Amino acid sequence: MNADTQIAVPRGAEAASPAAGATRSVTVLGSTGSVGTQTIDLLMAEPGRYRVRALVAGRNAALLARQARALSAEVAVIADPAGLPALREALAGTATRCEAGAGAATAAAALPADWTMAAITGIAGLASTLAAIDRGGAVAFANKEALVSAGDVMLDAVRRAGTTLLPVDSEHNAIFQSLADGNHGAVEKIVLTASGGPFRTASHATMAAATPEDALRHPVWSMGAKISIDSATMMNKGLEVIEAARLFALPDSRIGVLIHPQSVIHGLVYYHDGSVLAQLGAPDMRVPIAHALAWPARIATSSPRLDLGAVGKLDFAEPDLDQFPALRLAREALRAGAGVPTILNGANEVAVEAFLQRRIGFLEIAGTVARVLDALGSQKADTLDAVMGLDAAARRAASAFISGRAG
Ligand code: NDP
Repeated sequence: MNADTQIAVPRGAEAASPAAGATRSVTVLGSTGSVGTQTIDLLMAEPGRYRVRALVAGRNAALLARQARALSAEVAVIADPAGLPALREALAGTATRCEAGAGAATAAAALPADWTMAAITGIAGLASTLAAIDRGGAVAFANKEALVSAGDVMLDAVRRAGTTLLPVDSEHNAIFQSLADGNHGAVEKIVLTASGGPFRTASHATMAAATPEDALRHPVWSMGAKISIDSATMMNKGLEVIEAARLFALPDSRIGVLIHPQSVIHGLVYYHDGSVLAQLGAPDMRVPIAHALAWPARIATSSPRLDLGAVGKLDFAEPDLDQFPALRLAREALRAGAGVPTILNGANEVAVEAFLQRRIGFLEIAGTVARVLDALGSQKADTLDAVMGLDAAARRAASAFISGRAG
């Protein structure tokens, strides 16, 4: 770990943490999703403490309206314009401004706010996440695809705006907490744990025949569809390795992955005096979300308390890269650098969607990503335009492979 480490540093603490009792202005991007609704629950637990600037959702106008009404949001944005009439009708008589479209989502993210949750899935969340970063303040960061795809662009923006990035992914939040003594220069390596997903012990034949319902049945975590499928292929852990490399300024060789089915230890930091610090907790996303919301203080949650006596034993194993080739592909993409992670992410988003639509089999998700990586090779992604162009090329190539046009 070196001075380039991208995680929150103490100078961000004043921005992120107003005086005790002060009201904080907050924005939630992706408020109707799994991370978003858990964030809303935490805000609702102490409504007087937060002033909600903007809530942004994709299509679920009914839930967005309920959230905006309950929290008296200033702005509610539905990305899909078809949802605007329903949103307006449901919020009639309130002071909430209703807007629609991708541009409105980005504009809402740019409104002044002390704290923003970035939890829109996929590259769809990149523009609004970047707008929140450019605005400054604290950005609680769940949207890993944006950082994987546009790493340099996002980190340049973080540096320029002096934004405090607070990791929300449970593993990265665990590493962040385990780095709290500030001795970043003494870190040898970090380890991200992985539950192993629903196919941890599955045969090749079982995985080949897996349906979306099988793959969505995560044994530990309850999450949105995209990340659940990524967990089943272990592409999620691959994206997380890239995310960790970006957030903590570490090379691939210093980021380990361990299968840990109980998901009690979320991340570990190895120091050069032989100490290992780890963060433990019940597998409940409200814990890292609450940590990011309150940082550098802590707030109470109703999350189930960890009972190690009841858990009994903790298991660990190295991941099998033959069984889960997506993790190997992601590590290779990280080592290749430049725009290769952008290609990996774009191809994966298309392949996951095709699997969910039953157009390809489960094992073809990683297969499609591998073919697109081979086809597109290494290209630059050092500007937002270059990232978007490469992402579009990866999507076109993946769609072509899937529909069989490219043979
Ligand atoms: P969900 O699919 O549950 O939610 C996604 C959210 O994004 C929804 O609010 C959705 O709105 C909104 N959305 C989708 N497309 C658009 C768009 N074009 N414009 C604006 N909003 C849009 O995802 P998760 O909450 O599971 O995951 C969110 C992010 O957090 C992902 O990047 C994931 O990898 C990461 N993450 C998630 C974890 C989890 O436990 N779920 C854990 C760690 C990281 P709507 O529903 O209204 O269409």
